[in-house]
Amino acid sequence: MTPDLDPSTVVVHAGRPERVPNAPLGESPVFSSTYIAGGDRGYGRFGNDAWTAFEETLGALEGGRALTFASGMAAAATVCDLVPVGGRVVAPQHAYSGVLAMLDQQAESGRLTVVRVDVSDTERVVAAVAGADMLWIESPTNPAMEVADLPALAAAGHAAGATVVVDNTFATPLLQQPLSLGADIVMHSATKFIAGHSDVVLGAVITANDDLWAAIELRRRSVGSIPGPMEAWLGLRGLRTLALRLERAQSNAAFLADRLLAHPRVSRVRYPGLPDDPGHARAAAQMSGFGAILAIELGGDAEGAQRVCESTRLWVHATSLGGVESMLERRRRWPIEVPTIPEDLIRLSVGIEHPDDLWADLDQALKV
Ligand SMILES: *Cc1c(COP(=O)(O)O)cnc(C)c1O
Repeated sequence: MTPDLDPSTVVVHAGRPERVPNAPLGESPVFSSTYIAGGDRGYGRFGNDAWTAFEETLGALEGGRALTFASGMAAAATVCDLVPVGGRVVAPQHAYSGVLAMLDQQAESGRLTVVRVDVSDTERVVAAVAGADMLWIESPTNPAMEVADLPALAAAGHAAGATVVVDNTFATPLLQQPLSLGADIVMHSATKFIAGHSDVVLGAVITANDDLWAAIELRRRSVGSIPGPMEAWLGLRGLRTLALRLERAQSNAAFLADRLLAHPRVSRVRYPGLPDDPGHARAAAQMSGFGAILAIELGGDAEGAQRVCESTRLWVHATSLGGVESMLERRRRWPIEVPTIPEDLIRLSVGIEHPDDLWADLDQALKV
């Protein structure tokens, strides 16, 4: 493809079959566990046309080579497996709870040691990364919405000899490309914005380093943490409209953030797009948009927050995020959520509905 196309064009056109007479416009999922001998495909755990198309598209967007996985967690666990036994990982204080729980399990079993730091506190991260094998970053963080200084942390990680990983799920490759900011590996829960329709669980890893790519691919084929062809195809099908979905969801999020800020029941709005947000300047410097996730707090009223989540009619009370449907939940309803996340914090994943309908429903739920 032409190298200087806009990402919103690349997301539509990358990963397509060659334009020859009778060729289909897109790859199809091939349902075969094995292939006739003599070629390079071999077996269904090693490759699939639908994976390749999805991976080519994601790789083009992130500026590297992609590998798709059975879930975001399968991708995360495979990346963590690169850390040598007894190695040290610096991880965020706040991040996706499943990743933090997986690291805790590995620490408990003696596989590695984990140091947790506030990733928005650059000095703290720089001090902690000495002697680390891996620096795991999420930005913005789930669900605290903190923003890490990615270029500074990537440089500090490399100076310490650590592999720098960024979970780019919240930003998506259309708003932030961590490899271009210095990261070695990008990880996605493609379940979220990339697939975008709350109908598939899927993960991905992208790197521009061929040795890291080969090490991760080897683990995927030996552990078997592969998606089915249909899942990868659904991921690609969803990804094609990411630019359009994100544009609407993001403008809805900005509209709602302003409204929520002025709402008497809401004590805090966490959204990097707000000029007074602590992460605003950093996000403006390293992202091309502020995304479609925000979090609110209700002045310590956890029961009230739970009631709000149970009182919406349009907003879906469910976990997960990044779908076309607006969703909300009180994160501390999950026992594994980090205890420093406030009990009354509600995470809002803003969808593509009409903003007035979203506001009317939230406003009525905030009155319950
Ligand atoms: C959901 C999520 C994950 C885990 O991905 P799954 O696809 O659910 O396995 C990892 N990181 C972030 C930021 C997430 O939101």
